[in-house]
Amino acid sequence: MFHSILVPIDGSEHAKKALSVACQLALQKGAALILLHIPEKLAHETLLVWGIGAVDLKASEEELEAAGRKVMDRAEQAARDAGISHVETMITQGDPTRTILDEARRRDVDAIVMGSRGLGDLKGLVIGSVSHKVGHAADCTVITVR
Ligand code: ATP
Ligand code: MG
Repeated sequence: MFHSILVPIDGSEHAKKALSVACQLALQKGAALILLHIPEKLAHETLLVWGIGAVDLKASEEELEAAGRKVMDRAEQAARDAGISHVETMITQGDPTRTILDEARRRDVDAIVMGSRGLGDLKGLVIGSVSHKVGHAADCTVITVR
């Protein structure tokens, strides 16, 4: 049974797609969604979805967190619009893989639903490093959405 589902969201199109799959699953199973964002300094210019735009490469930690807050507000709204009533958002500092694994364990979630890729710019990769590591190391079911 899926009672709670963790959805890590980095602001990418892939994570947005994963959220949509997680919403379908949550609706069917009556599960709660926990949306998790870890602010990350990127080495390249990138566009965040939900109309948020690009994050400056010289952005401070505060600016990164503010952009993350916007991403999470839009993601939460998207989940509510999809009909999910139990949605929680979290922004946590740290290494993305470590934080996702720790949070999944701490909250004892039944599944992690994440994108196969994220904001990384190595276009040839089939799967990103965070998805790869979480898929191998998590104790619970991991669904990577392509
Ligand atoms: P890489 O980071 O290895 O260059 P990538 O960015 O293309 O590659 P991943 O980082 O593995 O791919 O992203 C895959 C999925 O992991 C994302 O769709 C998202 O669900 C989750 N994720 C990655 N980074 C974060 C983050 N900082 N905060 C929340 N979720 C994240
Ligand atoms: Mg990444």
